[in-house]
Amino acid sequence: MNDKYEVIIGLEVHVQLKTKSKCFCSCPVEFGGLPNTNVCPVCLGLPGTLPVLNRKAVELAIKAGLALNCQIIQKSSFARKHYFYPDLPKGYQITQYKEPLAVNGYIEIEDSKIRVRRLHLEEDSGKSMHCGTETLVDFNRCGVPLIEVVTEPDIKSPEQTVQVLQVLRQILRYLDVSDCDMEKGHFRCEPNISLRKVGEKKLGVRTELKNLNSLRSVREGLQFEIERQKKILDNNEEVIQETLFWDEQTKTAGSMRGKEESEDYRYFPEPDLPVLVISQSEIERIKKSLPLMPWQRKAILISNYGLSENTAEIIVETKEFVDYFEETLKEINDPHLVANWLVTEVRGILNEKGILIQDFSISPSKLAELLRLLKTEKISNKVAKDIFNEMLITDKTATEILNLKDLTLVDDEDLLFNTVKEVLQENPEVVAKYKAGKTTVISYLIGQVQKKTKGKLKPQKIQEAIIKQLE
Ligand code: ADP
Ligand code: MG
Ligand code: ZN
Repeated sequence: MNDKYEVIIGLEVHVQLKTKSKCFCSCPVEFGGLPNTNVCPVCLGLPGTLPVLNRKAVELAIKAGLALNCQIIQKSSFARKHYFYPDLPKGYQITQYKEPLAVNGYIEIEDSKIRVRRLHLEEDSGKSMHCGTETLVDFNRCGVPLIEVVTEPDIKSPEQTVQVLQVLRQILRYLDVSDCDMEKGHFRCEPNISLRKVGEKKLGVRTELKNLNSLRSVREGLQFEIERQKKILDNNEEVIQETLFWDEQTKTAGSMRGKEESEDYRYFPEPDLPVLVISQSEIERIKKSLPLMPWQRKAILISNYGLSENTAEIIVETKEFVDYFEETLKEINDPHLVANWLVTEVRGILNEKGILIQDFSISPSKLAELLRLLKTEKISNKVAKDIFNEMLITDKTATEILNLKDLTLVDDEDLLFNTVKEVLQENPEVVAKYKAGKTTVISYLIGQVQKKTKGKLKPQKIQEAIIKQLE
């Protein structure tokens, strides 16, 4: 199919901003609160109330705009977007329409740049919950600040779509602009997708996909829709421009409603909010406050520490992970050793437990202590891994565990067996004396085994092993 049609995808992503209060009132933003407890006359849209813009929301949106290489528009404005739905008590949503906060950026992924058309601020709606024949509404989410990021139709496959979303999410998390938790609805994406015959200049008719609640459903939903549109075009029929709703259970996308035109929303300027003016100095101040971005930190790992592209990529996956790497490095100056342990052992545990590095129980300095024992050859790689595994379940340090182990290293049956065997072979005359009935010579043999194993085996165990092997 890939030779006959070209896939074209553009994204609209809604991201919940990490503010303490809502966009236009002082209600707290909180996930999972009792329904309709975080509400006030403003976010319920009662007559006579006025919105007041949250300064923090603007700052976070500007941060996102700058990190996405956008131009920040110094005079942007708000508009009302009208539609009638139970979870929208005002009957309109405050958004930005003609003059968005940021425009003309791009997101860089592996081998291409995806242009960002615009980024604007808006408020979220409430939530409808369908229970049997009844529908209940929770207005807690009403007025929570969002940014909407709209890309140009530059994306060429479902896999590339997932990549763009991963990079976007990574950037927003580095900025601490949002937690981007898809399950909690912090990061909702609606791809638009069309096909066109290879060589065709004009874009095909597109559909929009909704209800994609994980990266996996984004990929599956788009794959489904590509196949569907392909069949339509193969039959010389026309794709209808519409919004489709992804059903996670049946893995199909069904028609939700005809696609609205912007006229349907009766946009008009929001009369209750003034033009949003951002000074150049404010933009500069925010620019200076931006943290290093993942690609910058990756470049540092490669140039300063000589890590491979691949390892660096894994380490910068989250800001907390690369911070952990740098912290550990402060206490043991061996970037390759630390990187190796983080990428294999530590990440293995995080994946196994399904936790993040910020919830990992071993601190950077405790890990550094373990790695110092390894580096100075006090312990072998195998012992290091054993100690590491024990550190996961106790809060003892590596040295404490090592000291305890030295006294109780009786479980090493192989070491015990082999050393005893060796000592018996090396001392045939002593063995002969023992066999002739002079059993007291056994203490000499025990001493030899202890010497070879640096006192790590219990004498009692050694004696048992010697007697067993002599018999
Ligand atoms: P709307 O006003 O319906 O939201 P836009 O023109 O703003 O439509 O585009 C919305 C999204 O759809 C953008 O991400 C854009 O890149 C994408 N898009 C537009 N046309 C197409 C198309 N023919 N095929 C795929 N994506 C498209
Ligand atoms: Mg749209
Ligand atoms: Zn409120």
